[in-house]
Amino acid sequence: TPGRDGSREAVLPTVIDPNVPSIARAYDATLGGKDNYEVDREVARQLREVTPEVTTLAWDNRDFLIRATRYIVGTVGINQILDIGSGLPTAENTHDVALRMNRDTSVVYVDIDPIVIAHGRALVEDHDRVHCVQGDLTQPSELLADAEVRSALDWSAPLALYQVGTLHHVADDGDPAALMRQYVEALPSGSYVVLSHFFHPGDEDPEAAEVAERLEHAFLHSPMGTGRFRTRDEIAEYFEGLEFVEPGLSTLSYWWPEGPPPDDLDPARRLMIGGIARKP
Ligand code: SAM
Repeated sequence: TPGRDGSREAVLPTVIDPNVPSIARAYDATLGGKDNYEVDREVARQLREVTPEVTTLAWDNRDFLIRATRYIVGTVGINQILDIGSGLPTAENTHDVALRMNRDTSVVYVDIDPIVIAHGRALVEDHDRVHCVQGDLTQPSELLADAEVRSALDWSAPLALYQVGTLHHVADDGDPAALMRQYVEALPSGSYVVLSHFFHPGDEDPEAAEVAERLEHAFLHSPMGTGRFRTRDEIAEYFEGLEFVEPGLSTLSYWWPEGPPPDDLDPARRLMIGGIARKP
């Protein structure tokens, strides 16, 4: 990648190992995608054994991303998106939705997974304004200084930064709140953050909390070894310095549902919350 210094290149994974599951491929397998190996499908199966509803939860997250993008581009009128931890190009990617709303939208996808980048580049070849950059979201300074990230977006105008289904893959000692402070600091005023995260409801919802604990155990003991379910207060901290758009931090399928809000949501589907917030 132009402009990237040699030391960064050394720590980003470049080898695709079909014997080790990846977050992106296991998520793709959960969504029913085709870009995954047997090891990834095995992780997806183990999660479904804990609760079959994990598939619906993954789709709730993807659907939130789609509705959020319609809101950002169609309603707010922002035409540049930095989609961090963008994942494999499943149907209806951020750029598909964004370009339908406004042909002049710039989208920069960033992911650490070399398969995501390879597939993504092939997919966006025909779009001048869509870019795929390999980067590590736990290294905000380097990610934000990447030559393509700088040049593809106008950093003097509002943009939208996505952390959709990403920060729960950062361990507590990786300090996701500090990472988010650094990202928010870098955003021009009037920018938006779109974020979703695995949720541990605690006493608020003991039935779902029990499923959260079983799922977290399965995630952390899978060969991927990541997937933290955090409290509402912990997740709210990732929005520090920002103003929530209604309805605030909410169960994903209740964030601007299409049609009437679903009632009687299965406990597993209460295990991700997210929101959109604006930098004043
Ligand atoms: N944002 C997409 C969505 O919500 O549909 C994909 C979410 S997927 C669960 C998480 C993505 O984060 C994966 O594609 C994974 O490769 C990426 N990821 C995990 N750790 C990362 C890191 N340190 N830097 C960049 N990307 C990372």
